Amino acid sequence: MWFGGILCHGQAILLKTPEMVKICPKCGSTHVYWVAGGLIGAIYRCNDCGYEGTFVLEVKPADLERFQKELKSNADGPDEF
Ligand SMILES: [Zn+2]
Repeated sequence: MWFGGILCHGQAILLKTPEMVKICPKCGSTHVYWVAGGLIGAIYRCNDCGYEGTFVLEVKPADLERFQKELKSNADGPDEF
């Protein structure tokens, strides 16, 4: 069981704190929506860049801008993922 889920690429996901905001790991958009769930976990889709996958970032609203800037600054490739 993967209820912890934190092993997937980082610490920022699946921490179900209400004040966290989901953002797209590719473009930093907050327009990410849960589209499906299955054996591999939830799947999310970004309405802005079309990203689809099990991995989204969850950040505090206070950190949102910083994350979005970082994601834009290395938009060529999500190397760290
Ligand atoms: Zn996106």
